[in-house]
Formats: sequence, C-alpha cells, structure tokens
Amino acid sequence: MRRSIIAGNWKMNKTIPDGVALAGALSDDAAEFIDGCDVVLCPPFTAVKAVADRVAESGVDVGAQDVFWEASGAFTGEVSCEMLVDAGCSWVIIGHSERRAMFGETDDKVNKKMKAAIAAGLKPIICVGETLAQREEGSADEVVRRQVEGAFAGVSGDDASKAVVAYEPVWAIGTGRASTGEDANSMAGVIRDTLAKLYSGDVSEAVRIQYGGSVKPGNMAEFAQQPEVDGALVGGASLKAADFIGIITAMIDSKK
Ligand code: PEP
Repeated sequence: MRRSIIAGNWKMNKTIPDGVALAGALSDDAAEFIDGCDVVLCPPFTAVKAVADRVAESGVDVGAQDVFWEASGAFTGEVSCEMLVDAGCSWVIIGHSERRAMFGETDDKVNKKMKAAIAAGLKPIICVGETLAQREEGSADEVVRRQVEGAFAGVSGDDASKAVVAYEPVWAIGTGRASTGEDANSMAGVIRDTLAKLYSGDVSEAVRIQYGGSVKPGNMAEFAQQPEVDGALVGGASLKAADFIGIITAMIDSKK
C-alpha cells in the first residue's frame, strides 16, 4: 500500500517570520498525524532554511518550489540541488503549471531538473496537467501522457519509483473550481498506465500520485477516497495551519 503524501505549495507567500510561525503551528501538532501521512512544506527559497530548522525532528519535510539543473556557475538568480539539500530540503516541486505558463518551463527542462534532483538525493514532485482548452478539445489524456513521458525520459525505474506525480489540471489551480474525484482518479489511472508502459507494473504501482487544484478541508475526502490518488498538492489552503491540518486529517481518515 502506498503511503499518503500531502504537500503545501506556499508559492510567493510568507516572509521568514510568517513562514516559521506557520511551520511551527503545523509541526507542533505533527505527532497527531505524521504516522499516517508524509507532510511536505514548500516555502519560497528565502524561508526554506528557517522553516527546515523549525520543523526539524517533527517528521514534517521541507521542499523547494523549483530548482536549476546545473551544479554551480554563472546562472544568475538560479538555485542548485546542492544548495537546496544544504538548506534542509528533501523534496522539490518541478514543472508546476505556473512555471510552465509564466517562466518557460518545458518538458525538456522538467526532465533535466528531475535527473539533477534525483542525483542530489532530492525527491521530485513532478507536476502535470491540462489547460481548460485542452480538456474541452478532448486532448487532456494525451497532454498528460506526453508530460509524464517527457519528465521521466531516461530516468531509471528505481529512480522513477521515488518520484511523486502531482496531477494538477490548470483550470482548477487557485480557481475554487476543483476537479471531481472521479476525473482525478481517471487521470491518475492514465498516469499509472503511462508509467507502466515506460517501466513496469511494479514501478507504476510504486509511484505516488497527488491531485492538486482548489483542494480544501471540505473536499479532500472526495479525492482521498479514490484508489489511484495518494495525496494532494495544496496551494492556497496550505497557508493556514487549521486548513492544512484539516486536509491532512481528511486524507488519513479516508484511507483508514
Ligand atoms: C498549486 O499551486 O499547486 C495548487 C494546487 O493551488 P491551489 O490549491 O490554490 O489551487
């Protein structure tokens, strides 16, 4: 059975003191939920180290929202995998739709970042998902298949098994318009089928798949009850401790 995983993507929110306060509120309650679920906080780069120090020993993990694939050098503004590990990250989100839409992230870049992350010992959360236009024209499955194939190209089965894939339909992110549980489960099935073709049934069964897009405490159970969905990548609702804990609790209760 796959272990549940809930990750909070804080995006460009929280100063260092605000981030430490949120992380503290979550990690102080972690004993109540950490046995049932992996929990990952992804603050902005500036707050990663302070948040990692605050949650140390609680079982809560820290991730970054992006990374660059090169190890060091003249890459102004970029942050390497080694720097993230040094700051206390064990996870990194790669290929978020906001980066794809606004910052020129391509499947090829996602692939390079994934390989660099794995080589550095970081566990990647690979984001995939279709736009509303792609869903309406009936190409959602094909788009997501292509993104998964692009991200995992040349990655070994062993390494692939350590990854998490977040299915995040672009039209559901930050809109309050979540997917249905049934549609999320169906796309998680498409992702598993793609991984099974690339690797094997064992690898596709090992990879954990999250749903992301307007997840709230009130709708988490609908996703958590789906057999192919192993957790959630949460944006807005991860910025309030009570909401994020509500989502974690709904996940754990639904998988009991
Ligand atoms: C996200 O940013 O990955 C996300 C899912 O955002 P939200 O939960 O706010 O829709």
